[in-house]
Amino acid sequence: MMFELARQRLAPVFNLLDINEEVMIRLSVPKRTIVANIPVRMDDGTLRVFTGYRIQYDDTRGPTKGGIRFHPDVDMQEVTSLSFWMTVKCAVAGLPFGGAKGGVTVNPKELSLMEIERLSRGYIRAFADVLGEKRDIPAPDVYTNATIMGWMADEYAMIARRQEPGIITGKPLHLNGSKGREFATGQGALFALQEYLEHYKPSSEQMTIAVQGFGNAGFHFARIAQQCGYRVVAISDSQGAIYDPKGLNVLDVHRLKQEDNRLASVYCDGSVCNELDYETLSNEALLELNVDVLVLAALENQITEQNAHQIQAKTVLEIANGPVSPDADQILEAREIDVIPDVLANAGGVIVSYFEWVQNRSGMYWEEAEVEQQLKKIMVKESQSIFDHAKKHKCSLRTAAYVHGVERLAGAIDQRGNHKLFKSV
Ligand code: NAD
Repeated sequence: MMFELARQRLAPVFNLLDINEEVMIRLSVPKRTIVANIPVRMDDGTLRVFTGYRIQYDDTRGPTKGGIRFHPDVDMQEVTSLSFWMTVKCAVAGLPFGGAKGGVTVNPKELSLMEIERLSRGYIRAFADVLGEKRDIPAPDVYTNATIMGWMADEYAMIARRQEPGIITGKPLHLNGSKGREFATGQGALFALQEYLEHYKPSSEQMTIAVQGFGNAGFHFARIAQQCGYRVVAISDSQGAIYDPKGLNVLDVHRLKQEDNRLASVYCDGSVCNELDYETLSNEALLELNVDVLVLAALENQITEQNAHQIQAKTVLEIANGPVSPDADQILEAREIDVIPDVLANAGGVIVSYFEWVQNRSGMYWEEAEVEQQLKKIMVKESQSIFDHAKKHKCSLRTAAYVHGVERLAGAIDQRGNHKLFKSV
């Protein structure tokens, strides 16, 4: 039960904080869950129906925000867990948003470009009534991207009969996207890692890094990390991993992966394994490499109680959502391997989505340097607050991040009125 596991993260927080039990009750269930069957006309003239989800978990702190995933494993459990994490993440980052998530159960690599466009527009038609720039704002997630966000914004404009670019973020630059959004998640994760290193490991030598997942988040993280002088020694994608203890050339690997683009679609069909100059590894072996930092930028549940004892990295950086299970968390904590948690490490994406929403609503657009500077300011400030909580409560960085986010959520829930308040009048 994936959502049950996700929700378990709240228990240690409520043990540490003196919080009204109504907050726990409110945060234990999503506010609204919607399922729709989306009909799509295929290129050969036949009709297929895909199941789509939109879950608005909590909107106490503002309109809900969360990406849309196209993946064969998407189901209600997964989308609910992701919407819960978005709620915590927006609070951790101090953004004026609640949390949501969406998805479609589909293998998009089996569809043509035009079929993906029809599915994307169908998703918006199915959920338009509950979306809006002051209600619920989607964004990209696994196997959705800026092109798809552009189609979705266009479909919404046709339904609403007005331009409302703030309805969705992660759009292409020419369709009111924000500079810096494409690499915000990787960039934000690096800011969080650098703050962590400065705080906990100030005298460390050149760090070695292994990156699981070479999509939007993993590629940009690896690229910027290498630019900053870190040694990226291993990279994997769904087809396998490559390794060189002297360091890989991240840009070359990316170029080769892109060149083998047989699908001629919005996706890259190549693999990091096309790079023949490096030793290949299995995906499992990459996770067990002896590196300073293991970066998880693929999918959920990659470190579980099955492999947590084999992890040799000194620090784990969670760019994916939920890549370490609660059981594995305990094993890693006992082995003194720090985990920089997803709700902090991957917040760069939603932070720059917030900047995009602000720019769309004000009509004033920022330069890339401004975006990067504002992103850094938030990542540094919130990382430091989390490190302070970890010290004060003598707890893991994950629990500290949840304490930080839940304090903000509890403040908002309480201010709207609770049992104690109404009893006292
Ligand atoms: P993406 O679709 O661009 O890339 C996913 C990558 O993971 C691909 O390279 C794929 O080949 C690889 N992959 C899949 N299964 C794998 C496996 N078993 N082993 C190794 N690699 C595997 O997706 P993305 O946008 O980069 O998102 C990755 C993760 O980061 C997701 O958990 C997502 O929710 C999270 N995230 C992304 C953003 C963002 O802005 N892109 C923001 C916050 C969180």
